[in-house]
Amino acid sequence: MSSQRVRPEILDFTPYVPGLTVEEIKAKYGLEHVIKLASNENPLGASPLAREAIARAAAQAYRYPQNHSPRLCAAIGKAMGLDPAHIVCGNGSDEVIDLLFRVLAEPGKSNVICYAHSFSMYRLTAQLCGVEYREVPRGEDYRLPLEALAEAVDRNTRMVFVTSPDNPTGLAAKAEELMVLSGVLPEGALLVVDEAYTDFTWPPEEYSMLSMVAELKNVAVLRTFSKAYGLAGLRLGYGALPLWLAEHVRRARPPFTVNLMAEEAGLAVLEDDNFYSETLEVVFQGRELLLKRLPELGCQVWPSQANFVMFRPPCPADQVCEDLLKRGVIVRHLKSFGLPDNIRVNVGTRAETEAFLKALEGILHG
Ligand SMILES: *Cc1c(COP(=O)(O)O)cnc(C)c1O
Repeated sequence: MSSQRVRPEILDFTPYVPGLTVEEIKAKYGLEHVIKLASNENPLGASPLAREAIARAAAQAYRYPQNHSPRLCAAIGKAMGLDPAHIVCGNGSDEVIDLLFRVLAEPGKSNVICYAHSFSMYRLTAQLCGVEYREVPRGEDYRLPLEALAEAVDRNTRMVFVTSPDNPTGLAAKAEELMVLSGVLPEGALLVVDEAYTDFTWPPEEYSMLSMVAELKNVAVLRTFSKAYGLAGLRLGYGALPLWLAEHVRRARPPFTVNLMAEEAGLAVLEDDNFYSETLEVVFQGRELLLKRLPELGCQVWPSQANFVMFRPPCPADQVCEDLLKRGVIVRHLKSFGLPDNIRVNVGTRAETEAFLKALEGILHG
């Protein structure tokens, strides 16, 4: 009965399904040691400078943080070479996605577009907001269908989402190609490039659209501190938005969603060059190892510009994931992305990546 008072979008809603935590896996499978390579987290843990900053800030936990995190926006602007007026911080980039919908999309009228097998937050947020979500099929071998995205746009399209590098395939679009897409979008449609994994591209300047934000009025870039900066548990991300939009998003934003610890940790990790370069080194080496070893074990792989690799084992993927779990290794079965034959594994420390490969070898050739 009470459900009659709830919006239909909520009744139909299937929530985001996160991977199990290490503790949940240990309890469920009776394991003592677990290697988690399922959520694309930083293999090196949290940066030492960020940890010190959080400890230093602990005594201030009774204070409200400064609204809109102006010091952090200034530091991000400086680090990324952008006027801080473009930057809006959020409780993870998930919050920035939510804000963009609330500011730009009209329920029951607007639509947004993405391609199949993408990160689910765009679709879930559209659904919650009562906004039509249009899905465009992928090109051959999961190629990002940029032309097809442009063709699916109409005058009610408010946003076109491209994740680059893409989760879960690891494929990336070149900045040149994204420029072409932004150039053909009609007025009123914003190209949103989710660059959660852009730190791991090589060479980065060929991929990131961040520097274009100041020039183009219809491009927004999403970034996160959850991956290369190792702060997934603190929830910190930002949007680099055209000025006309940043202003409205700032007005619509609930106050204080970026907490005081997150802001201090974000400021510290932006200064931690050692942590950042060590992260890239571990990821580049581990990615190379995975891309070399997985085919030798009979798996198909896709080239990756991210901190993970998508692969297809020569036998059912759900069984492989289950067998890996029994050996204490958590990877991501891609059924929830509509890819039940595929698995995503992120790069761990050298020892973790090697332990994963050894466990997989035992399963496939044991
Ligand atoms: C991990 C990830 C994010 C980051 O989300 P946060 O809310 O910042 O933790 C954003 N987009 C994609 C595609 C991701 O995979």
